[in-house]
Amino acid sequence: MNIQEKVKKTLKKAGIKKKDKIVVALSGGKDSSVAAYLLKKIGYKNIQGFHINLNIGKYSEECLERVVELSQLLDIELKVYDMKKEMGSGMCYLRSGIQSKSKNEIKNCAICGVIKKWILNREVRKLKEDYIATGHNLDDEAQTFLMNIFKGSPQLSANLGPKSRNIPKDKKKSKFIPRVKPLFYIPEDEIRKYSKSKKLPVVYEGCPCALDSYRIQIRSFLENISNKDKKNIVKNFEKLLPRIQKTKDPRMEYCDVCGEPSRGRICKKCRLMKIRERNDFNKK
Ligand code: SF4
Ligand SMILES: [Zn+2]
Repeated sequence: MNIQEKVKKTLKKAGIKKKDKIVVALSGGKDSSVAAYLLKKIGYKNIQGFHINLNIGKYSEECLERVVELSQLLDIELKVYDMKKEMGSGMCYLRSGIQSKSKNEIKNCAICGVIKKWILNREVRKLKEDYIATGHNLDDEAQTFLMNIFKGSPQLSANLGPKSRNIPKDKKKSKFIPRVKPLFYIPEDEIRKYSKSKKLPVVYEGCPCALDSYRIQIRSFLENISNKDKKNIVKNFEKLLPRIQKTKDPRMEYCDVCGEPSRGRICKKCRLMKIRERNDFNKK
């Protein structure tokens, strides 16, 4: 089965309809670009792109250029969220402000990931779309699962799957936009090959801020593991899911500060922002 057929099967199994409105979170990298390309090729008609300009110097400039190029190539609308304009500072500035005032070490990606997710859900909700599609691939999912095991929190993977499992019953009232991962079962090297064969406008270099990420350590740990074994990690985890879900509190609450979906009274993004503000306040 080729990559297109595999993705088609994944989307069909996840119940994504051809007429569903899907926003693809385009980073400028190969994964999200291939996800958008294949969605379009398979016949999903209501696709649009969403890009967060993190303002990480030259890297972000290149990502933005590629995303614009890809959207033109696929003939899809593109919405760009510029962090500096919308939030007053780019990711590097915001992140170092938090890190310099935090008592504990917080990794770059831990901050960036939380803030990106918060922006994505909030902004895509304004667009009134059905789903957010991301470029997560088989390697990402195997890494996430293992990271959660090493942290002693396998329940954090309870929503792992090609489509969000925690979709609130009342979809219309919910503020959470369900996620779909078309490349869930596709290994990273296959995606890279495909992207190159289609000559997609993509930034292949990694993000310069990802140097200290815990995910990178897990990635090198998995480096010598075959794609078949990575698939086994994810497939076997899916078998365990029903038991893990029984032990997990599935409640999706809303943050007391920003009103966005949250697993606790205050969402992770607002907790990070509080680290900055509280210390500023103490200095006054
Ligand atoms: S690699 Fe880390 S710092 Fe870079 S964009 Fe991704 S989450 Fe952010
Ligand atoms: Zn919040």
